[in-house]
Amino acid sequence: MMIAVYLNYPRSRVCVHHNPGCSKIQQAKKPGQRRFRIDDQSRDHHIEGCQKWSFLATSETNDMWLQIDLRDYNQEVITLEEIIAALGSRYRRFARPNISRHC
Ligand SMILES: [Zn+2]
Repeated sequence: MMIAVYLNYPRSRVCVHHNPGCSKIQQAKKPGQRRFRIDDQSRDHHIEGCQKWSFLATSETNDMWLQIDLRDYNQEVITLEEIIAALGSRYRRFARPNISRHC
């Protein structure tokens, strides 16, 4: 399993894709956009690092893609929730994000 997650600010929209071939994933990618891959090796690094991720209402910093690949859906969702909680403690708009599942 693997999930691809799109985070948008300031709309605090979190969209989860389960199909890695989903056409929306390709369509939504912009040059220079931040993308992080979270797997078994990088998970701890990113859980710590996400404390420093910044979101501002500019085209470079208003969104981000996360690819979470922990080979276990529940672990991937737990990791996403941890990241959102960390963001929510710094960005009020992420405290109550609008989370949707696209595919
Ligand atoms: Zn999708």
